[in-house]
This record gives sequence, structure tokens and C-alpha cells, in this order.
Amino acid sequence: LLLAYDPARKLARVQVNLEKSLVNARMIYELLDIEPRQRDRDGAHPLSVPRGEVRFQDVSFSYGADVPVLRDVSFRAEAGKTTALVGGSGAGKSTVVALVQRFYDLSSGAILIDGHDIAHVTKASLRAHIAYVSQHPYLFEGTVRDNIRYGRPDATDAEIEEAARLAHAEEFIRQMPMGYDTPVGENGVTLSGGQRQRLSIARAIVRNAPILLLDEATSALDTESEARVQDALETVMKDRTTIVIAHRLSTVVKADHIVVLEAGRVIEEGTHASLMKSKAGAYARFHRLQGEPRAKQGGNAA
Ligand code: ADP
Ligand code: MG
Repeated sequence: LLLAYDPARKLARVQVNLEKSLVNARMIYELLDIEPRQRDRDGAHPLSVPRGEVRFQDVSFSYGADVPVLRDVSFRAEAGKTTALVGGSGAGKSTVVALVQRFYDLSSGAILIDGHDIAHVTKASLRAHIAYVSQHPYLFEGTVRDNIRYGRPDATDAEIEEAARLAHAEEFIRQMPMGYDTPVGENGVTLSGGQRQRLSIARAIVRNAPILLLDEATSALDTESEARVQDALETVMKDRTTIVIAHRLSTVVKADHIVVLEAGRVIEEGTHASLMKSKAGAYARFHRLQGEPRAKQGGNAA
């Protein structure tokens, strides 16, 4: 599939692990604006996002014709608040985040942003209001500066550097041979997982979008990088509508709202405190299994 399109030549130079997920590949199509499939409908209008509320209304979805991956999923991610998605591997968390970006069409139901069905808005305007930090941060061939600027092509150098500072990336960038002008990507300097993550967070900060989608990835990071990435994420989450696929207990506990998915269904919802009261509940069980925050990193909450 990847090599089927002419612009895909560019993709050959994208540093991305193509084994990871198709969602990632779709995202790169989106970034390069070569997404061939989800064309705008006739009469599609530009989305305006005064508040940034995201609402799933009885959303069902399957990748193929067969097995439904999401079944009647309904939840509301309040404007300016953090909603955490929790659930075992394969529960459908990354799919939720892909559907907000309209990488795929729904089987039924609707996703509304500030009351507008995203199926009826232009894809460009939808994407302009969303920043996405993937679990597998990708770097393009180009300089550090170019890589941050992908977040918003008209960002000034000052804005790029400010974003890098907020993302705790400034220090390692300044230590690189040519600072912001250092080439990265396949033929450039090699960055650690934590450094790539922080560049991708800087990219999200520069984007300055009201809706933030985070597929947290920290199990591969050492403790220090993890603390810095966490700190950087909290900066970008502030005052934005955030949907976070939370791998870390601390993020889940702090979320304003928690949605528990199992096999494509929402089985529980609430705050940490309310969900913990239901001792037999899935969330309480998940919490027990995750146990002492760092003891079980990389468990099945991913
Ligand atoms: P989670 O993020 O909770 O681990 P996903 O949303 O990635 O779950 O996946 C939910 C289900 O959809 C899984 O059964 C997974 O195998 C399937 N799936 C995910 N992505 C694709 C895809 N691009 N094509 C087909 N099936 C997929
Ligand atoms: Mg996932």
C-alpha cells in the first residue's frame, strides 16, 4: 500500500517503524497531504472550534467488513479538560484517536466537535484544530527546526525555539553539532526515543491546536527522560481538550474523566475516585494490576 502512490517516495525517507501500525502510516499521509481516500463530501464546510468539546455518539467501526472494533462507543471529552482512555491491548484506544482525525469513516454513529459532525467538515479544517503525539514519534529528513515546523509551517524561529524549550528539548538541541540546524532523520544524527518524543511534543506545541490527542509512550524511556516527557506533556495539555491514551497510572489518576474500553465497548466511565469505589469494576482491577506505579511498566494497559 505504502509504495502504491507516487508521493510515497518521500515516505521512504521518513524515519518510522512501519511495522508499528497502519494508523501511523495514515498519519504520515495526512501530514504530507497525500491521503488518497477520505475526500471531503460535497458541501463540506470548514470546522470552527470555539470550545473544543469532542463527543462520540454511538460510534461503531470496523477496519474490514467483518469484526467490529468499536461498538456503540459514546463519551464526551469536555472542552479544555483531560479525558483518559484506559483498557487492555486491542481494546480500541488507538482506533478512537484515529477516528477523531477521520483517518477512517465510521460504520455508524457520529463524532461531533462543538456540535459539528466531523464527517461534514473539510478534512483540512478538522486537522488544523488537532495536534497528535503518536506513540511512535516520527522524524522527517531535515533539520531539527524543520521537524518542529511541521507542526505549523508558518511558525517563526522564535516560536519554534519557545516550543522546544517548553518541550524540554532545548538543552539537547543546543548540544547538537549545529543546534537547530542539525540534520536528523535517516541520514542525520541519531536521537534517543526520549529526544524524538520531545521533538514531537515541540511540534504539537507549535501547532497550538485546541484539541490534543496523545498516545503516551514511556515504557521505552529511562526514568529521567520519562519525567521530562511527562513534564512537557503537561505543558501542552494545559487548557486544551486532551484525549490521552494513558499508559501511566499517574496520568490516569489526574485525568478529569476516565473512559474504560474493553473489546471496543465503553464498560465504565468516571473519575479515578468514582471508579475506584466500584471495587469489582474493571478500572479498579486495572488499577490493582498496574499496581505500584513503576513496578509494572509496559503492562497490558498499553
Ligand atoms: P488499542 O490501542 O486499545 O491497543 P487498537 O485500536 O490499536 O487497540 O486496535 C483495536 C483492534 O483493531 C485490535 O483488534 C487491532 O488488531 C485492530 N486493528 C487496529 N488497527 C488496525 C488496522 N489498521 N487494520 C485492521 N485492524 C486493526
Ligand atoms: Mg494503541
